[in-house]
Amino acid sequence: MNDRLGRPLRNLRLSVTDRCNLRCEYCMPEDDYRWLPREDVLHFEEISALVDVFLTLGVDKVRLTGGEPLLRRNIDRLVRMLAAKPALQDLALTTNGVLLAAQIDALRDAGLRRITVSLDTLNRDRFKTLTRFDALDAVREGLAAAHRVFGRFKIDTVVMRGVNDDELVEIVEYGRTLDAEVRFIEYMDVGGASRWSPDRICSRQDILDALTKRYGHIEPLLEPGSSAPAERFTLPDGITFGIIASTTAPFCRTCDRSRLTADGMWYLCLYATEGLDLRGPLRAGASPEALAALVTDGWRARDDRGAEVRLALGDRRAFVPVQDLLRRDPHLEMHTRGG
Ligand code: SF4
Repeated sequence: MNDRLGRPLRNLRLSVTDRCNLRCEYCMPEDDYRWLPREDVLHFEEISALVDVFLTLGVDKVRLTGGEPLLRRNIDRLVRMLAAKPALQDLALTTNGVLLAAQIDALRDAGLRRITVSLDTLNRDRFKTLTRFDALDAVREGLAAAHRVFGRFKIDTVVMRGVNDDELVEIVEYGRTLDAEVRFIEYMDVGGASRWSPDRICSRQDILDALTKRYGHIEPLLEPGSSAPAERFTLPDGITFGIIASTTAPFCRTCDRSRLTADGMWYLCLYATEGLDLRGPLRAGASPEALAALVTDGWRARDDRGAEVRLALGDRRAFVPVQDLLRRDPHLEMHTRGG
């Protein structure tokens, strides 16, 4: 099933909670937030039923996100339910790592096979400033646990000029010790990035220049047909890393991702301001076929290419004004729709 730009529906990012135990500068910089009403948050059985609908329509990859997904109580139970679905080829989870060491064995036993851990700095004071919590040691424990249990895994690093752009080499080297592939992500203007400004972007080219200076020639890895957001590269010694250049070189033309929030709103783009409510029909007793028809209509009408549209704008500021983020609709937040 393709959208209006010929893109198939394949990847579903499933946010299981809008809560987070960090307050990262680029995602949740404000003092207060409007949370999703608890009674609206989908039960695991409801999530599982919706995933079944998506699987019948071509989705074969699900990534659990948040907020911080490990804050959702008994998340391993949901992992077990999803991992048991034969049509699901790939089940992954993205976490900030704070609670990972304590939960990783249960997640692995439940059937999780892939994990990505966010890590923006290796400097303790900087971590505190950036996240408002003194939790770097816990994250490091989580990263070590990820290596112990999964062997290879990914580290996601949002790079901000003047904040952590002097740590790129250090993070690559740290990833090397854990057999983790680092993916550098350009600072995006979406969701909670209310303090975003163009001069805070460390671009794909800036990242490549900094790493070339240290390592020498960097070779792009050719992956024809890939719809993955990261462009991958190899260092002269064979170490690979990725760059997700959502801000300066968007990849909307191959985007097969959609997002389901913890309360069952389905978004077709990270920049979409409106979503499709699937919780309402589900709780009203809609059949799987009726839900599939809603999703089909939604995807077939999709022509979103939010990051490309933003790039084409000349004068660019944060996508959603902070007053709208805090008052209008919590779904506009990145921590609600899973980044
Ligand atoms: S901006 Fe929207 S269409 Fe473009 S890659 Fe991101 S989610 Fe996909």
